Amino acid sequence: MLEPERRRVVDRAPALAGLTPGRTGNLSVRSDDRFAVTPTGVPYDGFDTADVPVVRIEDGEHVAGGMAPSSEVPMHAAIYRREDVDAIVHTHSPWATTMAVRQEELPPIHYMIVAVGKRVPVAEYAPYGTDELAANVVEAMTEADSTACFIENHGLVVTAPDLDTAIEDTIHVESLSRIYLQSLAAGGEPTTLSDDQLETVLERFESYGQ
Ligand SMILES: [Zn+2]
Repeated sequence: MLEPERRRVVDRAPALAGLTPGRTGNLSVRSDDRFAVTPTGVPYDGFDTADVPVVRIEDGEHVAGGMAPSSEVPMHAAIYRREDVDAIVHTHSPWATTMAVRQEELPPIHYMIVAVGKRVPVAEYAPYGTDELAANVVEAMTEADSTACFIENHGLVVTAPDLDTAIEDTIHVESLSRIYLQSLAAGGEPTTLSDDQLETVLERFESYGQ
């Protein structure tokens, strides 16, 4: 069941090691009505495809895989129920989590923000692993038209059409959070791009690549 998706989880989970302390990160890949997700409490390189839990989106039931799924499964399941995305990455990466602790959204200080939207909003705090937290995350992303959001006093969530993009966008948000916080520390208000300037970048992004 979901063999290619479970393989993606095994192959890409080690990328979390440089982004989030200990075993606090998790990621998932969806196929149809199920998703493969990192197991709970195991090092990111400490499991194989047969261990990777498969979870049913409808009710969050663990339907395959030898290891127990991440404690953030309710959040992943609830996002998949509400959003048309195929991958989710969640981290406590330090610069993004500093934004989460400040309960402050990331404004468009740099053109690369368009990878996730025109800003990164903040979802209201709720205990980890709850449906309430998932609802807050989806609400914040929808309202801001962003594929990323900070969670108050917790961390960062990024959604994407595929896992590589979700990981890459997580790195973008972490980097932009750092630049924003460094520019605040340097004194004064950081400058931002206008809506027109962001629209121009979005047009260029649509024709960028191989
Ligand atoms: Zn977390």
